[in-house]
Amino acid sequence: MTLLLASVAGATDPAMFFFVRVNEQGAEEWYRMLDGATVIRVSRGEYARRPYEGKIATQSPKPFFVESFFVDRTEVTNAQFARFLNSVPKAAAHVRPRVPGLERIKNRWQATPGMEAHPVTACTGEGAAAFARWVGGSLPTTPQWEKAAGGIEGRLWPWGAEKPDSTRANFGGSGGVLPVGSFPSGASPYGCVDMAGNATERTIMQGRAGAVVIKGGSWVTPHTLNLRVLDMCVQDMGVADRSVGFRCVMADPTPKRASRKRGKAATLRYAKSWDTAIIEATKRRVPIFLSLQYDTCGQCDRTRAQLFRDARFIAFCNRNMVVAVGHKSGDAVDDPHLEHDDGGCSLYPGLKCYEHHAVFTKSIRAVGRFTISPGNFVLDPTGTKILVRERALPKWGWAVDAYLTRFEEARKLCADER
Ligand SMILES: [Zn+2]
Repeated sequence: MTLLLASVAGATDPAMFFFVRVNEQGAEEWYRMLDGATVIRVSRGEYARRPYEGKIATQSPKPFFVESFFVDRTEVTNAQFARFLNSVPKAAAHVRPRVPGLERIKNRWQATPGMEAHPVTACTGEGAAAFARWVGGSLPTTPQWEKAAGGIEGRLWPWGAEKPDSTRANFGGSGGVLPVGSFPSGASPYGCVDMAGNATERTIMQGRAGAVVIKGGSWVTPHTLNLRVLDMCVQDMGVADRSVGFRCVMADPTPKRASRKRGKAATLRYAKSWDTAIIEATKRRVPIFLSLQYDTCGQCDRTRAQLFRDARFIAFCNRNMVVAVGHKSGDAVDDPHLEHDDGGCSLYPGLKCYEHHAVFTKSIRAVGRFTISPGNFVLDPTGTKILVRERALPKWGWAVDAYLTRFEEARKLCADER
């Protein structure tokens, strides 16, 4: 019972589940902090439901109403499932050791190296359902899954009516299961990937207690008909095999809300000075992310180009942190970065160059020195205590997950000190 309450609280905590962007397909993408999943909103309404036919689909689809819901963009990975096992140790009973993907080393679960991003297939149907409850959701119902895969028009395959080929789906039995998201051109009308092929996915159907209806076909599926959205098969809840995985759905607390429209991409908000960073962080009781950068540093360039432009990173920081960036261009005497005529900085939108110079000079006193640029730190709201040291934050621009995990720990710490 405690576990259930904890997971429900996690799912509704706005810091743990938040809007990131409208994707290419026009659907809302949200971020679920607990397991690091990108989750897509499918708005309410009817979809064209095709009746199951073993051969060529000839019967016409019938409209079927589905309430708005959130669905995982990809199949749940071994890395996500390992987080779950470390958080809920008794869930280990749902893991089948003869199926590869997960291993336990000194009582800590981890994905088998090289299989972190592969769909988890080593867990049973019960394990899949337990994971889904842990993130505050459930396995999809069959109609939810079909709508996420085939859209309101009830496509035969997630991308449309063209037969599957090796550019759109992993099937045919040669390559084994692949990392999730390996076939972006096979995306569904909402932007969900691998709904045809890779791992077959568990769904729940009314009147089928104790079993799951598996859909979408897998890497072993020889025939393209079995990859159709309408296709299905039944499997016992206690089974785990190398070709069956799952994704989760979550209830939408505001089902009647209209979908967000695609707008201008959000940008990272920077504090104008070290003092205002402290004032704002103290008022909001959130941590300060301080990044100290140089002109001549390639890793600083990557940090700005990748990390600072990542939609999840921006959404998390703007909501849960105060970001202060100190930048020194003095090290590039011959070729400093561009300062616009009005003093505006070409690297940090919204900041003047003199402002990031001043942040550098003032904030470096709070952290002392750093070994490798960028010097990235998380500090308490008063800007005096270092909560996350420079070495705990990877320098790679793509290390968004590592940053968000550390940021979330610091955020909790500051929120708890209320
Ligand atoms: Zn500048």
